[in-house]
Formats: sequence, C-alpha cells, structure tokens
Amino acid sequence: MSQQFDLVVIGGGPGGYEAAIRAAQLGFKVACIEKRIHNGKPSLGGTCLNVGCIPSKALLDSSHRYEDTVHHLADHGITTGEVNFDLAKLLARKDKIVDQLTGGIDQLLKGNGIEWLKGTGKLLAGKKVEFVSHEGETQVLEPKYVILASGSVPVNIPVAPVAPVDQDIIVDSTGALNFPEVPKRLGVIGAGVIGLELGSVWRRLGAEVVVFEAMDAFLPMADKALAKEYQKLLTKQGLDIRVGAKVSGTEVNGREVTVKYTQGGEEKTQTFDKLIVCVGRKAYAEGLLAEDSGIKLTERGLVEVNDHCATSVEGVYAIGDLVRGPMLAHKAMEEGVMAVERIHGHAAQVNYDTIISVIYTHPEAAWVGLTEEQAKEKGHEVKTGQFGFAVNGRALAAGEGAGFVKFVADAKTDRLLGMHVIGPAASDIVHQGMIALEFVSSVEDLQLMTFGHPTFSEVVHEAALAVDGRAIHAIQRKRK
Ligand code: FAD
Ligand code: NAD
Repeated sequence: MSQQFDLVVIGGGPGGYEAAIRAAQLGFKVACIEKRIHNGKPSLGGTCLNVGCIPSKALLDSSHRYEDTVHHLADHGITTGEVNFDLAKLLARKDKIVDQLTGGIDQLLKGNGIEWLKGTGKLLAGKKVEFVSHEGETQVLEPKYVILASGSVPVNIPVAPVAPVDQDIIVDSTGALNFPEVPKRLGVIGAGVIGLELGSVWRRLGAEVVVFEAMDAFLPMADKALAKEYQKLLTKQGLDIRVGAKVSGTEVNGREVTVKYTQGGEEKTQTFDKLIVCVGRKAYAEGLLAEDSGIKLTERGLVEVNDHCATSVEGVYAIGDLVRGPMLAHKAMEEGVMAVERIHGHAAQVNYDTIISVIYTHPEAAWVGLTEEQAKEKGHEVKTGQFGFAVNGRALAAGEGAGFVKFVADAKTDRLLGMHVIGPAASDIVHQGMIALEFVSSVEDLQLMTFGHPTFSEVVHEAALAVDGRAIHAIQRKRK
C-alpha cells in the first residue's frame, strides 16, 4: 500500500537533507529518497559529504600538515627526523570522516522522524512520485509537495573521456580523491575550484602538477587584484598553471597519458601518470522526470525555477545544483530551507547577492559581493581599500603573512559592495563581509568598530580604514 507523505524530497545531499529536516521541524510527514551507494552501502549527504566538500577538505588538511611539517616547522626552531606519510592511512582517515558525517545525517533523519527511502525517485505527472527501491520494488507516492534535489555530476569532455566506472589514468574529481599512490606527473584540466584544491593536495604530497586552463585569464570570476596575487602565490608553491592552454586531445599509452594542447597558437604535448578532468559540473536529472511531469528544463539542462525555487508545476520545488546559481553546498542548503518555509507559508528568501565563494587552498581565497570590475560595470562610482597580512602581528606570529583583504564600496554612498580575502582563515574572515553586506553596512560602520588585538581580523578593520586612506599600520597618501 502506498505511504502518505506531506513532502517527498528526491535527493539526500545538502539541499535535500536540510529541506527534509526543516520540513520535519515544521510538522510535515517527510520522506527523502536517496539512491547513492558509497563504498558498498547506501549513503546520505550527496556529492558534498561523499565525494565533494568533505573528503577534499580532509585531504587538503592532511596534505597541508605534511607540507607545513616538512617546509615550515624549522622556521619555528622545531626539528624533526625524516618526515614521511602513509597514503593508505591518509585516505582511510578521509573515508572515516565521510562515514562519520554521512552516518550522522542518517541519525538526524531518524531523529526527526523522516523516512529515508533507499532507491530512485522519479516525478510523474500530477505531482506523483515513483519510488523504486534498491531491491527493485516499486511504489507510487502521492505527496502534497515535492522537492527535487538531485544535484550535479562532472562535465565529461570528449577530448579527455573519463571511464564511467573504473576510472584509472584519466579521472574526475571522485577518482582524484583516491589515487592509490602519489602520481609523479599529474595533469589537471581546468584551473577552477576543483583543479586548484585537488591540484594543491597532490602537489603537496609530491606530484609535479601542471594545470591547463583554456581561458586567457586566471579565475576570471574573481576580483582581478585577488586573482593576480593568488596566481602568484600558487605558482610560487610549485603549481604550474598554464592559462590560455586549451586541451585538444589525450592518448593513453600503457600507464601514462599524453595531453595535446594549444597555447599561444602553438600545438604542444605533455605526458602524465594521471590526469584530472575538472572543467565544471552539470545538473543531474537523468531518470528524474517522467516525460509528462510538467517540469521545464533550461537549455543547459537545469530545472527552471523562480526566485523562490518553485518549478513550473504547482507544489513542486527544485533546489541546489539542479537549478540556476552557484553550485555550492551552502546555497543548496538555504534553498532547501527556503522552499520548505515557503510551502509552510513563510516569506522566506535567499539573498543570492551574499553567497560566499571559497577556495580552500593555502592560503585560502574567499569573496562575497561584487568585484571591483563588476561594481564598475554596474555603474557604481567605486572606491576600494586593501590591506595586507604582511604587517599584521598575529599573521606574522603564525608565519602567515601572505595575502590581503580588499573592500569594494560605492564612493557616493559609502555602501559596502564586496569583500575579497586571500590569506589565513579567509574562509572564516569573509563571513564578516557577508554579515556586513546583509546588514547593508557602510564602510564607516566597519571603521568605527573595535577589532580584537592581535587577530587576523584586524586586517579587515585596516582594509576598511584604507578605503578612506586611514589605515594605521601603513603610510597612506589619502587623508580624510
Ligand atoms: P548533491 O550533493 O549532488 O546531492 C544530490 C543527491 O541526489 C545525490 O546524492 C544523488 O545520488 C541523489 N539523486 C540524484 N538523482 C536521484 C534520484 N532520481 N533518486 C534518488 N536520489 C537521487 N561546495 C561547497 O559549498 N564547498 C566546498 O568546499 C565544495 N567542495 C566540493 C568539492 C568537490 C570535489 C566537488 C565535486 C564539489 C564540491 N562542492 C563544494 C559542491 C557541492 O558538493 C555541491 O554544490 C552540493 O553537494 C550540491 O548539493 P545538492 O543537494 O544540490 O546535490
Ligand atoms: P569550475 O567551473 O570552477 O572550473 C572549470 C574550469 O575549467 C574553468 O576555469 C574553465 O575555463 C576550465 N575549462 C573548461 N574546459 C576546459 C578545457 N577544455 N581545457 C582547459 N580548461 C577548461 O569547475 P570545477 O573546478 O570542475 O568545479 C565544479 C563546481 O564544483 C564549481 O562550480 C564549484 O561551484 C563546485 N566546487 C566548489 C568548491 C568550493 O566551494 N570550495 C570546491 C570544489 C567544487
């Protein structure tokens, strides 16, 4: 007999599971359908917890500790013997963290009385949902509301095809989380977020890494000053980033792969032991929608939604990587909560102007709001202030003097428009800018606050003061 649910969520990633939990809090009877099998068992948490945010950060942390020990402990007068790492243990640690977190989501769903239906969901006509369990049993559910949260998958390019199951020499981000040994020569296609994070992991562990980027500019979506400094720092660390380098083909011979690419009008080749393809992700709606479901897709295969994630079918919402906007876990989560609260009659919304971007390299790069270039394009008369970590006491004490905080503001109104951080704890520091933007702060608001000493955050204060030529720990030309 078909079970009765108020809400069925298809997809148990950050978007889907947060939507399910919020709905249960509001008194809905909820089912969450998730089909993922990870390391041989059903798993909640989506891309983020299983093969995305969390395992990549575990590897970033381990590889950073190793690099720091080898190259920087001596600066503190600490001597060590020969430093080694056990890759199998390092990967096992990552897997344990993934298990802990995905198991935690299972507990959270149970604790909230949410039914996890293990298998595949499909939206049928009339807002019905077909559920096929892993054992092959089918039931048709008739919930009052449906949230589609099926996420995304890596883009596959014909010039560097990734084997669908047994990835070996040419891999996507999932394969790159599990190399059984450190490749001596590692190629990366795409200097985007994944290329920089996973390229950094393997470089720190000893690989020679070359990153091919088709665009002429490095990180074109970032503020130009940040991108310039960031490229310089990563290059200094040994990441060989080649911009304007478009890969035109690959050839696997035995245990190596030769990459053909064009750069500056010249055809070139280079051979690697492994090649990571990370040229973006695309919405995943395979098998999700019956032909007569009534859901409209965009040209790019995203589910069409309005500002509140409502689809073309009443009572059906879509969130996260499946819909427009940045493919980020925190954006998916907030959309899940918004959709449920809307269903419940609240006037919830997501402020898409204050969604934070972070790249978790060392140093981290993070930003929120408009870049200087975007602000000018939008017609603002722009003023900016930038202050480096190089003269911040806490940063120097920690050996973390690289990078800066930059503010972009409207010169006429003093309103803060954007914050760009490269440096220690950038992923946390940038939240100060996010909160300021949410509260429509002026630069003066930040200038008037007292920041603790000695902290990395003092650079935030100095950058705000620098907007008006008033930074204290710098010789400033402007006077006000
Ligand atoms: P997903 O997490 O993709 O979850 C969707 C789930 O739906 C999947 O588990 C899938 O199995 C399931 N599903 C699909 N179709 C069906 C169906 N028909 N029936 C049942 N289940 C179905 N973002 C960040 O914000 N910070 C980071 O640091 C970060 N790091 C990343 C690192 C990597 C290597 C990768 C690949 C991504 C990273 N991301 C990061 C992006 C982040 O993982 C995604 O933005 C986020 O997971 C999207 O959440 P979602 O709920 O929309 O979809
Ligand atoms: P991306 O869009 O960040 O970068 C892909 C890069 O590949 C682009 O710079 C593009 O110009 C380049 N490219 C495309 N085709 C190419 C070709 N043929 N040759 C050379 N370069 C080419 O995509 P990604 O790094 O795959 O990441 C996918 C998504 O995952 C991102 O959109 C991001 O939202 C999410 N993610 C987020 C985080 C984080 O928040 N820290 C970490 C990892 C992934």
